[in-house]
Amino acid sequence: GSLLAAEGLHKSYGATPALDGVEFSIHPGEVVAVMGPSGSGKSTLLHCLAGIISPDAGTVRYGPHTLTGLSDAQRSALRRTDFGFVFQFGQLVPELTALENVALPLRLNGAKRKEAERQAREWLERLEVESVHDRRPGEISGGQGQRIAVARALVTRPRVVFADEPTGALDSLNGERVLNLLTDAARESNAAVVLVTHEARVAAYSDREIVVRDGKVKDMPAGLI
Ligand code: ADP
Ligand code: ADP
Repeated sequence: GSLLAAEGLHKSYGATPALDGVEFSIHPGEVVAVMGPSGSGKSTLLHCLAGIISPDAGTVRYGPHTLTGLSDAQRSALRRTDFGFVFQFGQLVPELTALENVALPLRLNGAKRKEAERQAREWLERLEVESVHDRRPGEISGGQGQRIAVARALVTRPRVVFADEPTGALDSLNGERVLNLLTDAARESNAAVVLVTHEARVAAYSDREIVVRDGKVKDMPAGLI
């Protein structure tokens, strides 16, 4: 069955409908690209699926949970343990080193410092940024920051990874490496990835593409992509 599924999602900002009756589902280990032009509702969909915002109508189910029926506190607890996030901007804590940034989600879930830092180091190695473990975000390149953000998203071994334009700020070679590392690591641990992008070359890393247009989703039939 599906790991995460949405039915009949509606969300408006004032008079502007951002989502207008959206269905969505994703299976464990599946990488789904959410495509569509700017302003079409992609980020709003991601935020509803992740329980960051509540839709005006419709339901989001995650495993046995109905996310849309949980309290804010219950949803944020579930996000910390089960979901990972990679966003384009502002995701690292500027006062913390790379190692501390990656260890942080484990610390928030109750891990001891030593154990959190041991696991964080493994992910920094895997993402090939171990050499900057003691630097702060202001002292590293954009590409290194993006890898550290991916390490931080995966360190808790989430069941679902939400990535919103994860390589938006990168040159293509680094972007390809980050996408490979992200999707390989996710598939290996049977995590689902919701990958929001407007770029076909990023969507090429997915198993399936959907297109959001004017707040509505349509699946792309194979062969028309
Ligand atoms: P995309 O991610 O595809 O660019 P968004 O989900 O960000 O699209 O936006 C969908 C629509 O909702 C757009 O018209 C956008 O201007 C509007 N919108 C998104 N977030 C907000 C917000 N916080 N306040 C007001 N309007 C918003
Ligand atoms: P990337 O392709 O990873 O974005 P860049 O070409 O931007 O890499 O940077 C190359 C090297 O320069 C990196 O190894 C990084 O250590 C260093 N560097 C880049 N930006 C900064 C910065 N703001 N402060 C310190 N070092 C930086």
